[in-house]
Amino acid sequence: MKSRRSLVAANWKMNGLRAANGAWLKEFGARKGALACDVVVCAPYVYLDQLRHALSRDEISAQDVSSHEPGAYTGDIAAEMLKDAGCGWVIVGHSERRQQHGETDAIVAAKAERALQTGLRPIVCIGETLQQREAGQTHAVLSSQLAAVLDRVGAEALSSGALAYEPVWAIGTGRTATPEQAQEVHAALRAQIGSTGDSVRILYGGSVKPGNAPELFAQPDIDGGLIGGASLVAADFLAICAAVPK
Ligand code: PEP
Repeated sequence: MKSRRSLVAANWKMNGLRAANGAWLKEFGARKGALACDVVVCAPYVYLDQLRHALSRDEISAQDVSSHEPGAYTGDIAAEMLKDAGCGWVIVGHSERRQQHGETDAIVAAKAERALQTGLRPIVCIGETLQQREAGQTHAVLSSQLAAVLDRVGAEALSSGALAYEPVWAIGTGRTATPEQAQEVHAALRAQIGSTGDSVRILYGGSVKPGNAPELFAQPDIDGGLIGGASLVAADFLAICAAVPK
């Protein structure tokens, strides 16, 4: 039994429409009582309200948040609005945001700060590219991504949310870090966080499926997962959640 309660988060990304979400939530709602972990569903903004009818605030997350306070930022969503919409959590720094929207470490840290200022729990994502891994830069890259957040919001802030290690080369590719590779990184990240590290949940993300989840989640420093593609099918997401050691 681990000292930290595991957390498994479904990241639907830009998928799902109201009818399909409804069916997913119905199946999930009927079976989630048997789970031994905390769960969070990260939905597109426009469906947060739909989640509110089926899940509690502690189970609802957005996938991004503005780094700014409310104001003249057309198309953006402020942390206060997410809170108002029933969210308890928000993902910040997902690699798709970093790559497709040019989010820097400084922007990600500012987003984490905005989340914390409004009482949202951030899921802070960090990860190295394949090129960086092959160049032996994994630890340096992760360490500076994590340091940017720690310097801005402090280590305690991470224990209210979670840190997610998501190797970019494993996201949506079907290629997963081996449990040993992931464990090695998670242990190093925990050490970097320092004395607060023991209370921070560090999730693994990157092509987690029902078949590989048990071995990943059995690692001592892996406290659950951030699940993309496999979270779109409720039965698969439930099977992944059920892989958390009891
Ligand atoms: C993700 O979106 O965070 C993710 C890990 O995706 P996938 O599970 O599809 O690799």
